Amino acid sequence: MHNKTLAELADGLKSGEFSSVELTTHYLDRIKSLDSQTNAFISVTEEQALSQAAEADKTRAAGDATALTGIPIAHKDIFCTEGVKTSCGSKMLDNFIAPYESTVTEKCNNSGLIMLGKTNMDEFAMGSTNESSFYGPTKNPWDNTKIPGGSSGGSAAAVAARLAPIATGTDTGGSIRQPASMCGITGLKPTYGRVSRWGMIAFASSLDQAGPMAQTAEDAAMLMNSIAGLDHKDSTSIDTPVDDYTANLNNGLEGLRVGLPKEYFAEGLDDSVKTVIESAIKEMEKQGAILKEISLATTSLSIPAYYVIAPAEASANLSRFDGVRFGHRCEDPKDLTDMYTRTRGEGFGDEVKRRIMVGAYALSAGYYDAYYKKAQQVRRLIKNDFIKAFDEVDVIAGPTAPTTAFGLGSIKNDPVAMYLEDIFTLSVNLAGLPAITVPAGFANGMPTGLQLIGNYFQESKLLNIGHKYQQVTDWHKKTPEQFA
Ligand code: GLN
Repeated sequence: MHNKTLAELADGLKSGEFSSVELTTHYLDRIKSLDSQTNAFISVTEEQALSQAAEADKTRAAGDATALTGIPIAHKDIFCTEGVKTSCGSKMLDNFIAPYESTVTEKCNNSGLIMLGKTNMDEFAMGSTNESSFYGPTKNPWDNTKIPGGSSGGSAAAVAARLAPIATGTDTGGSIRQPASMCGITGLKPTYGRVSRWGMIAFASSLDQAGPMAQTAEDAAMLMNSIAGLDHKDSTSIDTPVDDYTANLNNGLEGLRVGLPKEYFAEGLDDSVKTVIESAIKEMEKQGAILKEISLATTSLSIPAYYVIAPAEASANLSRFDGVRFGHRCEDPKDLTDMYTRTRGEGFGDEVKRRIMVGAYALSAGYYDAYYKKAQQVRRLIKNDFIKAFDEVDVIAGPTAPTTAFGLGSIKNDPVAMYLEDIFTLSVNLAGLPAITVPAGFANGMPTGLQLIGNYFQESKLLNIGHKYQQVTDWHKKTPEQFA
């Protein structure tokens, strides 16, 4: 049952092969017996899941089922879920029971999806390895000595280990695509503003975007149909028509112009990853795509620009965690200052503190123009680079990450080495573009994913290309042995 895609599960529910209660129980049992090997979940909401599933079975019996009714899902623990602990991977929010529901999870509930639980993540989504989680690192289901990627590493591991058929993630600088690549699943980062950020705990508000993490592009499309769209509660949500993301999955790729940025295949890219990505691109060519070398000259500037802008926004967003209204508060504060300093000192981990310090510095009087303003100007140049590229090509293809999953702890204490891992994903967020990662093969014995970047609101096209690629390859069907 757990190797079925969403589309297959929907068929099974429809034909009565199994009920939602049976399906949900199956996944809950798998989580119970297998999650100790991967630590993908922070909370499992068994009782709620079973009652939602019973409800879904009733809805189906009454003839009111949607395409997703009765299918289980796991949510990244960054989405507020009413009455359920929402920790964002931090000690700061270890005691936080969200009093309201995020738009993304509410839309999932309204589509009849069943929440299995909340997944592990880097603290406040800051990281690329899940090692900054207060709840201990998630381990890669393909090799439990390796990282799963991050920050949506729990969601990626849950889907790869078949502990959930689909999951939500968020991507501020690569956090959907990079763990998808490292765990061998499909992940879509939508255009900024396509999916509501309301109720999603903010890291860097001008970059954060939620999206699906799934086995297949088709499954990701099914979830996009549920979560995309205008939300008046999010002022950056965009009011343009929402596609039917499953409608164009089978369009042919003849004549599709695919740009290959020379900067994405240069020094720093692991040779065996490069070989995998090149052969994935050849598959697209076989289906009629036309390849064209392009240049995204600002690629290397994305790291310094992002690591000023994201911390700057984070330092502002995280000022709300002060022990006054919610979250952790230190014991017996002497006075207000003592409460602020000890609460924040105890509640935040090292990486979060590092970002707050960098961000506060970059925004301070005297440095604002030199760092923050300059970074915003570079951001504009990065965006211009993409706009120019999309005059010549329909999509851009390349690797998602320069390496495959590396050993847990291997670069944990080297933040700069960690930041360099984000080289192929950050520009997309700085420009606000959509991008998808699809499993493309194995390098160094670990999965790696092809990244396709689209023009604004071209999610349908990305899903279409991903789907066509998955029609002729079976990388997305591979399951780690002990989770088969
Ligand atoms: N690795 C990047 C960072 O640490 C991206 C994280 C994300 O997308 N949430 O900021």
